[in-house]
Amino acid sequence: MSAAADAGQPLLAPWTAAHALPPFGQLEPAHYEPAILAAMQEHRAEIAALGAQAAEPGFDNTCAAFDRAGRRLAHTVAVFNTVCASATNEALQAVQRRLAAPLAAHHSAIHTDAAFFARLDALHARRATLGLDAAALRLLERQHLDFLRSGARLPEPQRRRHAELMQALAELHTRFGQNVLRDEADWQLPLPDAAAMAGLPAFVRAAARQAALERGLPGAVITLSRSLVVPFLTFSERADLREQAWRAWVGRGERDGATDNRPVVREILRLRHELAQLMGHACYADFALADTMAGTRERVDALLQAVWQRAVPRALADRRELEALRDAALPAQAGQPLAPWDWRYWAERVRRERYALDDAEIKPYFELGRVVQAAFACAGRLFGLRFERRDDLPVYHPDVVAYEVFDADGALRGVFLQDNFARAGKRSGAWMNALRWQARNTADGRPQTPVILNNNNFARGEAGSPTLLSLDDARTLFHEFGHGLHGLLSDVHWQRLSGTQVLRDFVELPSQIFEHWIGEPEVLREHARHWQTGEPIPDALIDRLQRARRFNQAFETVRYTASAMLDLALHARTEAEAPADLAAWEQGFLAEAGLPAGCGVNHRLVHFQHLFAGSSYAAGYYVYLWAEVLDADGYDAFTEAGGPFDAAVAERLRRHVYAAGNAVEPNAAFAAFRGRAPRLEPLLAKRGLLDEPVPA
Ligand SMILES: [Zn+2]
Repeated sequence: MSAAADAGQPLLAPWTAAHALPPFGQLEPAHYEPAILAAMQEHRAEIAALGAQAAEPGFDNTCAAFDRAGRRLAHTVAVFNTVCASATNEALQAVQRRLAAPLAAHHSAIHTDAAFFARLDALHARRATLGLDAAALRLLERQHLDFLRSGARLPEPQRRRHAELMQALAELHTRFGQNVLRDEADWQLPLPDAAAMAGLPAFVRAAARQAALERGLPGAVITLSRSLVVPFLTFSERADLREQAWRAWVGRGERDGATDNRPVVREILRLRHELAQLMGHACYADFALADTMAGTRERVDALLQAVWQRAVPRALADRRELEALRDAALPAQAGQPLAPWDWRYWAERVRRERYALDDAEIKPYFELGRVVQAAFACAGRLFGLRFERRDDLPVYHPDVVAYEVFDADGALRGVFLQDNFARAGKRSGAWMNALRWQARNTADGRPQTPVILNNNNFARGEAGSPTLLSLDDARTLFHEFGHGLHGLLSDVHWQRLSGTQVLRDFVELPSQIFEHWIGEPEVLREHARHWQTGEPIPDALIDRLQRARRFNQAFETVRYTASAMLDLALHARTEAEAPADLAAWEQGFLAEAGLPAGCGVNHRLVHFQHLFAGSSYAAGYYVYLWAEVLDADGYDAFTEAGGPFDAAVAERLRRHVYAAGNAVEPNAAFAAFRGRAPRLEPLLAKRGLLDEPVPA
């Protein structure tokens, strides 16, 4: 053991586990703060030394050296962020609150370092004469832009104010996320008897019993985990209980008291507006969009409107159909508008009647382990990857499964960690992050292999029973796995340009395009096998799934698009103060936009983590739709070439999309893959919004 490990500081000691994985088994909440503070100091010293060099600034002693600096900090912070998101507790949350501002201050200090910036700026001014290859030039431009957007060129009082704003925002983002987590953890709906369980299929009952067990409660409970509350809203025959669950779900972050996110959101908006002004923009949306493919609000708005105008009439028509079924079944309610907690329930009834589809029939074919294997098999056929489970590698929680990932030639590509289950202390949603990026620019010249993590939030099957996924869950797993492949297949020299560190409206292309494969009949026939009998999913069921593919799509499209429009409008405000009554503003905006009653939105502002638990998706919730234009059109390349595993198309997809990171301009990367610029029609067709008459 080294001195640091002896001194009880395993994070500062060399990481000696296989693949230099973090010493997860030895980590305590108290280890993070001193390790991160020490690593920040080391990083500051590195940048100070780069700024003080006597040699003239050149690409190697400036850009390449900056790209190599701060690795220990990056790796330590990645571990910290990982446990805070996936396995947190009171002690970690306290550290997280304490470190939010210092980490933001550190980022500002590095990215406004005057001596270093002078060198970078000088280099940038003569970038065309440096003889750099395309990737190196892109690194220089990216670094320069990172500095500009961090306020490096602002005069002194404003530069200090910029740094203060970033620190205050980091604290508010942390508080916002912790409040949502607490509201989710604090609430449950007990299901004490058969009457409370009415309508629930066996898998929902089992998940509710498992949720009670994990919370140390008797019987069965519904929690606000999406994988539990959505099935409950879909199947429960008890409208009164659906209403309770729905109100708790949409009320996260809006309860009076310590977890109230309303003042947090207002303060975030006020500070973001000030930040935008400081940076010379009229509103925060303009500042955020300046560094995206879309570039302007007008281009985002045009896409959102193209989809919104087509989707709303369809959602209204769908609602009329649901109301008709409801009126026939419950004549006492005839004429009443469909309530938001009723939509999923009646949609499921229509789905069962019209397509003879029933989740209880589908789920046995989507056992979690088989879906994981299906994702690996697709990555194998497309890109030659092989995943080998390694139970001896260190992980941060017993739920995490580790794999070594190998290329077709047997070379190690990286390590993949997968954490699939919902549990207390884990943020809701699904996401990918990197514990270490792929890069070849390293201090010792040895390639840095990526360590990539996927988190999902599936409701675990009861003890002795398998975890069965819905088709939506399986799609989510494929989505995150697509992000994972973007990290694992990355093949770039510069760490700053590696993996998913692309423009944010490009980042959902590798994830969303990968979702297509789980819907392919060929993949389903091979991997969707009944967990008990091993029988493949019947062709007739695949047919019914295919026919029902667009069913209730307008509901999902409208909910998503409304959330994206809400985000954009909120961040496009030019008033210094946020709306005094957020809920009233939200409601007013949605009414004005014509949101069909009963439809709801994906996220209300008070728990919209994309926007307020960090800044990377603020004025950026539209990116899923933007990237869907690319993935829908991109996937058609396989169809046109004759099949979902066409080798030539797969090779282009790997080279220009999954491997390229941010080393290539995204429009150019897409064009190199597709052979032309993207078209909007495949997205509209995929969502059932093209050339199909709207039922009157
Ligand atoms: Zn994603």
